[in-house]
Amino acid sequence: MAKKRIAILGSTGSIGTQALEVIEAYPDRFSLQVLTAHQNAKRLINQALRYAPQCVVIVREDAYEEVNEALAGAGIQVYTGEASLAQVVALEDVDMILAALVGYAGLKPTLAAIVAKKDIALANKETLVVAGELVTRLARENGVNIYPVDSEHSAIFQCLLGERCNALEKIYLTASGGPFRGWSKDSLQNVTPQQALKHPNWSMGAKITIDSASLMNKGFEVIEAKWLFDLRPDQIDVIVHPQSIVHSLVQFQDGSIKAQMGLPDMKLPIQFALTCPERVKNDFPRFSFTDYPQLTFEKPDREIFRNLDLAYEAMELGGTAACALNAANEVTVQAFLELKIDFVQAGEINEKVMRAVNVVQSPGYEDYLAVDKEARTMAGLFCSVGGFKDQEG
Ligand code: NAD
Ligand code: MG
Repeated sequence: MAKKRIAILGSTGSIGTQALEVIEAYPDRFSLQVLTAHQNAKRLINQALRYAPQCVVIVREDAYEEVNEALAGAGIQVYTGEASLAQVVALEDVDMILAALVGYAGLKPTLAAIVAKKDIALANKETLVVAGELVTRLARENGVNIYPVDSEHSAIFQCLLGERCNALEKIYLTASGGPFRGWSKDSLQNVTPQQALKHPNWSMGAKITIDSASLMNKGFEVIEAKWLFDLRPDQIDVIVHPQSIVHSLVQFQDGSIKAQMGLPDMKLPIQFALTCPERVKNDFPRFSFTDYPQLTFEKPDREIFRNLDLAYEAMELGGTAACALNAANEVTVQAFLELKIDFVQAGEINEKVMRAVNVVQSPGYEDYLAVDKEARTMAGLFCSVGGFKDQEG
């Protein structure tokens, strides 16, 4: 069997490091060609020395010297700068890209990989939130497969295997509800980044953990599902399932529902995206029904967690609306982490920006760039005037 040659964008992150564990466990299936990081030079150096890829990218130019010196003589090419990401994905010796970087930064290299006809294992949901129409259209035109890594979408994908001739009626995306499930709006006003960063079931990067606490993550996953599975908004439902064992469900037109279940561990969806359609034996811990005597389901609180409805609204608005929402959210998450705004203000600013930025219908790549920039500027301004913590202190 020829080895699948992999490039990991964002290898130093939560998904990236777990993907490395998966890949390391199957040396006769995979070979690692490319590792990339934004600024964590030390971790990237350690990974490069351990996995000996063909090349690495450290995006921040001020970290280049450190990486280049540490890898001198190791036979590993070192590149820097954002533009390098779009180049390494197109290398001839690469079959598949794992897009595991966070945020809008994933869009450009993922598009470059698609144009270079590389299959994508997609963790970076923001790519589909921002430009789902463009990304899925280019993937179709270039014969590129996009394999979902997000656990909910991997679940839907797995439920749909073998069902090609059968129409689905709707899907249910499950949500843990995050650390603030059941909280009132007043109490949410005072939550700290530390509280928001404590997810009950999953250990993930900071941005997605904050998004999970605000349900923006689930809103983005609704948009991600629309593009991955070609669904109408009314075919996508969200149900809170605090145990995070049922990863999502598909309801077919005969009323039958299929679910995919397992312990909350991203290594399984990562592995399946890399080996699909094959299921490969592993020694991950197995789920035990007696450890979970109750699996419960409830409606999300859409009054308190407005971000979920904002995502539906962005889908209805179409065009660049979700791009503006994503940009605003990236700014407000950062501002919340830096104590410039509170948790509730973050959602309010997301809403204001999405409503204020002009929606471009049938956008091209340049339109996404322009809308992203405009929404970021606007969100930044709102954050600077809305920073009640600064005023207090
Ligand atoms: P993370 O913050 O742990 O890691 C992000 C990675 O991207 C790092 O390697 C970092 O160096 C790189 N990066 C950050 N900013 C960059 C930039 N501007 N340019 C280039 N590289 C940059 O994030 P994560 O939790 O691993 O999440 C990665 C993606 O996967 C996100 O889109 C997230 O929504 C999605 N995802 C994550 C999980 C999870 O369990 N962590 C689950 C489902 C989906
Ligand atoms: Mg998810």
